[in-house]
Order: sequence, then C-alpha cells, then structure tokens
Amino acid sequence: MIGRFKEEPILKSPAEIEAMKEAGRVSAKVLRMVGDLVQPGVSTLELDSYVEELIRLEGATPAFKGYGGFPGSICSSPNDMVVHGIPSSTVILQEGDIISIDTGAVVDGWVGDNAWTYPVGEIDDEKKRLLEVTEQSMWAGIEAAQAGSHMGDIGHAVQTVAEAAGFGVVREYVGHGVGRDMHEMPNVPNYGRPGRGLRLEPGLVICIEPMINAGTYHVHGLDDGWAVVTDDGSPSAHFEKTIAVTEDGPVILTTE
Ligand code: MG
Repeated sequence: MIGRFKEEPILKSPAEIEAMKEAGRVSAKVLRMVGDLVQPGVSTLELDSYVEELIRLEGATPAFKGYGGFPGSICSSPNDMVVHGIPSSTVILQEGDIISIDTGAVVDGWVGDNAWTYPVGEIDDEKKRLLEVTEQSMWAGIEAAQAGSHMGDIGHAVQTVAEAAGFGVVREYVGHGVGRDMHEMPNVPNYGRPGRGLRLEPGLVICIEPMINAGTYHVHGLDDGWAVVTDDGSPSAHFEKTIAVTEDGPVILTTE
C-alpha cells in the first residue's frame, strides 16, 4: 500500500530492524504463495481469502484489512489498474492478464509490506517487458538506498530504468516509511534528482515500490474510492519491498 505523510522519519534501532524481519518474512511468504495460485479462472476474492488464511496461520494479522476501511487482506490490481484494487468475486483472472498483488502482515506490532506483479498464463511481449523493467527499476531503487545518499537518488534510479524503456512513472502515488504504522514519513517518490531530498540515514525503514505504466504516467481513482487506473488504459505494474538503510547497505526485510 502507498501513502503521503508529513511527519518526521522514525528511525529504527538495529534490534527493531531485526524484529521487523518477522513481519517481513510473513508478508513475503504469502506474496510468493499467492503467486502460485494465479491462473485463469481464479477470482481476486479467492486470492484474498487464501492470503488472509495464510497470514493468520502464521499467527500474524493482515495489515491492510480495515486500514482506512479497506475491506481486503490484499490489494489486487489487474491490467490497467495501478494499485489498491479491492478483491472481488466478480473479478476473474483471464489468460493474458497481469495482476499486481500487494500483501502486508503485522507481527508484534511491526508491519511488513510488499508487492509483485504476476502474469496470468501467457502474456504478450509488451506486458513481459513491463514486468521485467518494473522489477529491474525496483532493484535499482533498492541499490540506491545507501546511507549518506539522498531520497532523490532512489527516485532517480527507478525513473532512469523505467523511462529508458519508454514507460511512464506514476507521480501521484509513492513509497513510504514503515514501522509500527504502515505509512510513516518519509515519502519515497519513484522520480527525483540525484543528491536531492532527505539524506538517508541508518535506521530508516522504507517501502520502495515503483508503479510503472506502459503508457502515460497519468492515473485517476475509480468511484469505489480505492482503485487507481491509468488514464490511457495501458497496463501498469507494481513491485515493492520493505528495506532498511544500514551502514552495510540496504537490507531487505520482506524476505523469507
Ligand atoms: Mg507500500
């Protein structure tokens, strides 16, 4: 999930970062497992029920369910939907679709948050390239999250990869700090200028989450108050990991 907040960053101690790894592990495990369920004929509500059950079996709590009134344990956003799709029994995955799934879990009060875009069966070359490039842009953003660098370095790294491929970088939604709250300061834009913005300090824990469109970067919300889609109907991909900035480089917390 994504958000916009204006408070100071809440830096985490090494012990707190260690504690956040359990929420990250559960978030990553269920995101991987739900990916195995993605196939033509499955509804996004089925994916949601599966994830909620898996999270609770881990002794964790779904981070998204009830957040701001959101009804699901996942966000499920097919094709031209960018983020925040509400799971539904009437949204049935079709051969050739892509589906962005965002999962979050809370363990001992700490939040993990991550997302991946999966192909449904065989997808066309444009969608394949969109998935490859968006994932690659996320890794470039993570690599740029070095202590002493700046927020603009992360955004610049993501933007450079995406725009070199001719894709649009969503501006209106951004990554975020994460900890005991799912959305903490700072914002983590997927665009920016090198050396600009907040200086990255050890203990900063953030979600790096490029939202990249095959066409225009312009997006708009739907009437349900949650789902965001591309203005031109082009497909959109979303990859996200929770990472900690440390003296030894970025450490991925949403990993098994
Ligand atoms: Mg997020």
